[in-house]
Amino acid sequence: MERPRGEHNMTDDQLIAYNDKRQRRAKEVMAKADVNYRAQQRAENLEGYLARTLRNKLNSQAKDHDRTLRVAKGVRDRAIAAKKHECKVCNIAPQSTTALNKHLASKAHAEQVRLQAGGAAKKPSAETTRSRNFAAKNLCPSSWNSDENTDAFISYFVRSTNPPPWKRNCPDQEPSRVGGVTV
Ligand SMILES: [Zn+2]
Repeated sequence: MERPRGEHNMTDDQLIAYNDKRQRRAKEVMAKADVNYRAQQRAENLEGYLARTLRNKLNSQAKDHDRTLRVAKGVRDRAIAAKKHECKVCNIAPQSTTALNKHLASKAHAEQVRLQAGGAAKKPSAETTRSRNFAAKNLCPSSWNSDENTDAFISYFVRSTNPPPWKRNCPDQEPSRVGGVTV
């Protein structure tokens, strides 16, 4: 460790504190010099500077890909946690400016804006109503998304048996409400 010149009576703690301070100061000086250097390089030749920094960035990313992914994930997670890119209308906080812009251009967002401005809720289309009614009559809600349900569904419509296979051991045989629609 460095010791101030001519100073020989420092305790260990003092010596450590002295060196810590020295290191911090050196880092500050280097960071400032780096900022100045970059500003100078940009001013001299912006295109060349950008090309060089991009090349350096890609090189270091290629050297440690996992680190790059970790850093990027950290940036995204912090953006979400801090609600950096927030849509207050829809109460969501996407991970990036790109994701937010995509959301702001979406139909879902436009619909929320319309509803919050006092627009009336749209009626489901005839097609949606038809398929909801159909599902309510023919699908077992206790196993809506299971493979078993899909198999039963397919075999019912392939063979047109009556009653449908799922009804044999379905705990909820008479579904009356599905997706808010009374059937
Ligand atoms: Zn929105």
